[in-house]
Amino acid sequence: MLDHLLIWLGAYYWQAITTGQVSCRFCEGGARASICGPQDIPSQYTIRNVKESYGVMIVCSSCHRTETNTLSHCLFDLPQVQHFWHKHSRMRWYPVREVDYQGQPALLGRFQSVIDKAGIDVICQRETLEILQIQENQLNAQKPER
Ligand SMILES: [Zn+2]
Repeated sequence: MLDHLLIWLGAYYWQAITTGQVSCRFCEGGARASICGPQDIPSQYTIRNVKESYGVMIVCSSCHRTETNTLSHCLFDLPQVQHFWHKHSRMRWYPVREVDYQGQPALLGRFQSVIDKAGIDVICQRETLEILQIQENQLNAQKPER
């Protein structure tokens, strides 16, 4: 049941990210979504003591509820990451980092097994959060810095 909720929520937030609009999940009115940058994310959203910098904000024009979801949570909701998590239940989240990907500004989100160093990386375009690459790998050779 939890899985279904996660998948549903993931689809909801990714629809918000990719289309800029969703039906409000509280009142089903029309809601607008926008990508948030570092100045928009409240300071209580942190991972491993690093403040989260990217996410999506959804504002309902009917009931005026506003919600913010961080990019890390959106990445966690991706089916590929969920699949990885099922195989590696003791998994560590890393703060999203700014990187260059094929010459364009991008963001790297990383989840890593605590047990065996298997990991999954997700790379998003920095402005639109469009997913550019998802790669599962063994991270022995390239441990992320702490
Ligand atoms: Zn609403």
